[in-house]
Amino acid sequence: MFLNRAFSWNHRGSHGRNTVSLHKPSEYFVHVHADTKSLQSVRRLSPRGVDLNREPLGRELGELIPVERIHGMTDVHTNQGRLWSRLMDMAEVGATPAGGSNRQALSDDDRAGRELFIGWAEQAGCSIELDGVGNLFARRPGTDPDALPVVLGSHLDTQPTGGRFDGVYGVLGGLEVVEALNDHAVETRAPVEVAVWTNEEGSRFPVSMMGSAVWAGVLPLDEVRAIGDRSGITVGDELDRLGWAGAAAFGKPLGAYLELHIEQGPILEASGSSIGVVTGVQGIRWFRVTIEGFPAHAGTTPMDRRHDPARSVADALSGIYEMAAAHAPLVRLTPAMFASEPVSSNTVPAHITFTIDMRHPDAETLENLDAALRRLVADAAAAHGCGYRVEVINDCAPVVFDPRCVDAVEAAARRCGFVHERIGSGAGHDACHVALRAPAGMIFVPCQDGLSHNEAESIEPDAAGRGAEVLLHAALDLAGTSP
Ligand SMILES: [Zn+2]
Repeated sequence: MFLNRAFSWNHRGSHGRNTVSLHKPSEYFVHVHADTKSLQSVRRLSPRGVDLNREPLGRELGELIPVERIHGMTDVHTNQGRLWSRLMDMAEVGATPAGGSNRQALSDDDRAGRELFIGWAEQAGCSIELDGVGNLFARRPGTDPDALPVVLGSHLDTQPTGGRFDGVYGVLGGLEVVEALNDHAVETRAPVEVAVWTNEEGSRFPVSMMGSAVWAGVLPLDEVRAIGDRSGITVGDELDRLGWAGAAAFGKPLGAYLELHIEQGPILEASGSSIGVVTGVQGIRWFRVTIEGFPAHAGTTPMDRRHDPARSVADALSGIYEMAAAHAPLVRLTPAMFASEPVSSNTVPAHITFTIDMRHPDAETLENLDAALRRLVADAAAAHGCGYRVEVINDCAPVVFDPRCVDAVEAAARRCGFVHERIGSGAGHDACHVALRAPAGMIFVPCQDGLSHNEAESIEPDAAGRGAEVLLHAALDLAGTSP
């Protein structure tokens, strides 16, 4: 069945195919099947809401939708087989022996992955554009030259032992939307673009979400170009070598941005939801804590005459875990990277440093946790005659996604008949940066055992298909169809 712009559709039912024409679409509603998401019947309603033309339905149906709202939409579908085979083809670029992918940012494998993508995008009729930090945009034009683009995207770079879906799924899902629009000859009012952000992972060049940060004006291009990898090659060297330093403007106005992504966590799988309607991304603050003691002989210094930073660290850690328990389940507190100086087992340390990764979706709570952490460290240091320092080394405010994007995703999931729930993101994504400049939202699909940044990262082909369907219908809602 396909509802076209002349307000008619072909109904392929048990009695073969027939075409229904609607002359006053505002008087009509359609039923969408809850599971197959196909159009089931049309009902004509009088202005007073009396059903004038009720068809026998026979099957369980989803909601009643004004025909104008699904005009050109509900019967356009993505092709799960094509999407899945492209995901598998992309995984072969930089394939690892354990079944994952290694396409670290700005490497030859990253280039090979992009070339594969560009080939598909050009075949689909897209024009390609790069900005100065190598962010790539593949554009399918709309019918309204003044309409701002609806951008769908994510990243193609991976961790060194990355999975097949993190990032890649959002890029190839976006491309699948373009393909579906082509397959069904749907013209959107706004252009639809697929974005590939540079260096989301930050494994080779240690700034994550780098390309989107430059695009959004969070990081200056010069600073980013100077970042080196372990062998001293800089981002700028590689952008020039690959020819990725393009001319497209940073931060151009967007109508909307949607990022389709695997959840990378266990929540959807546990609750049995097919789709996560992502409402925002929790705030992330990284601290470097230094506790300063006094170096002394491990054998000759009595325990009560030491300024031992390890004792302060122990007190601080138990306080931190109590704080985490008191703010469960939303807070995340992760102490890590412990290092003591001097590197010696028979000297009381002069100082111990460690990091704390603190996350919470609410900005005010994050501030309160920050203050509580500083008090804990101060008290723990003072209790054992030590000094201390607390530095913030990374700070990303919580992101609340645009209500129009969140609603579009939720409505699309409902129209498709998929079990869905609203969910916050535990991980950072390019969408966090884009959200500073444009209305943004995200769609999650469950991944097996919540596993990610792991070669065994896995999703079901059906799950991949459902996410792409929701992306398509949310994008159509936001991009609009031509009158
Ligand atoms: Zn990702």
